[in-house]
Amino acid sequence: MSHKRPARRIQGVEKNIWLEFTKMAADYKPVNLGQGFPNFSPPDFVRQAFSDVVSGEDCLMHQYTRAFGHPNLVKILAKLYGQLLGQSIDPFGDILVTVGATQALFTAFQALVDEGDEVIIIEPFFDCYEPMVKMAGGSCVFVPLRPKGTPDKPALSSGDWALDPDELASKFTERTKAIVLNTPNNPLGKVFKREELQVIAELCLKHDVVCISDEVYEWIVFDDNAHVKIASFPGMWAQTVTIGSAGKTFSATGWKEAVARGFQRELDVLGRPESYFFQLPRQLQEKRNRLAECLLSVGMRPIIPEGGYFLNADISALNVELPDPADDEEEPYDYRFAKWLIKTKGLATIPVSAFYSPGHRKDFASYVRLCYVKEDSTLEAAEKILKEWHLTK
Ligand code: PMP
Repeated sequence: MSHKRPARRIQGVEKNIWLEFTKMAADYKPVNLGQGFPNFSPPDFVRQAFSDVVSGEDCLMHQYTRAFGHPNLVKILAKLYGQLLGQSIDPFGDILVTVGATQALFTAFQALVDEGDEVIIIEPFFDCYEPMVKMAGGSCVFVPLRPKGTPDKPALSSGDWALDPDELASKFTERTKAIVLNTPNNPLGKVFKREELQVIAELCLKHDVVCISDEVYEWIVFDDNAHVKIASFPGMWAQTVTIGSAGKTFSATGWKEAVARGFQRELDVLGRPESYFFQLPRQLQEKRNRLAECLLSVGMRPIIPEGGYFLNADISALNVELPDPADDEEEPYDYRFAKWLIKTKGLATIPVSAFYSPGHRKDFASYVRLCYVKEDSTLEAAEKILKEWHLTK
């Protein structure tokens, strides 16, 4: 890529230790105690659950889920973490499911950090925090955990590393937006004690600072240490974004990559009739044609797509008299039409002006988008609705 392309705010974050060391591990095939992933299998019950879902009858399990997390998942998370925190959790308002904790961290920084904001990071830290803060336009302020133990012990403990409360307090300024806490910590393994968390919580409350609490190792705590959630401290529920990781929790850090086998199979049969990539467009083309014909016959002129999932249809010739917009005078015609179609005819489409910038929406408000990637029975039901409506007009 040309050196001019990347945005200024990511300058200095191009280098990444994982890129370098993952490549070296692939090249040299060492005994790999480097990257943090188990080389034993996830527990049987989790693998069984995965295979049940994948091979089960419910074909919707393979399609879009609720964007903020599958209802079954957010409900069980709310129940479990509600119990752990002694706090009622709204599964549909308080929980967001992401692709790994990595995406949760990225999303949290993007959502919270403005240009010029400061984020306090406790050293040593999981390296991705720094570039993520920078990508959000913020700057990092570091504060170290320092060894306080007696150096003549045969082995030290991660508990011997601690924050200096005064030093930590001195990092909080007018510009501090968030502090990142990681307990148990990567790489030290430190499990923050209740008293240590209390200091952080008090500073967060005093300065109205958000605590982004990375707790991906929450279930991996040894000896008589206990994982304490900072969100459980008085006042801190509203001040904390708690991040967990199913990958770490169930020893399955790679499930994000399960599609690789599908691509391997397709590569083996590429261009041949048994290939899914060969069959899929042919199957969908028939569906496209079927829907296009129906739309033509009811006066919704289709724009025949040359590819993809969708077909846009012109609704202007229908001359539907729509009720006045209830609460939004500015609402474009296609929005009102699409809502009316759902409510009165039971057919859902998407207004195409939603795909334009606000200033241009009004000029492109006479199309709706229809998806033809559906069972024939669904297309048939849509045809029935449109044709019956056409007859009564
Ligand atoms: N936070 C910490 C502290 C980590 O060590 C890691 C993974 N090494 C992550 C977040 C990312 O977790 P995930 O695999 O769920 O994206």
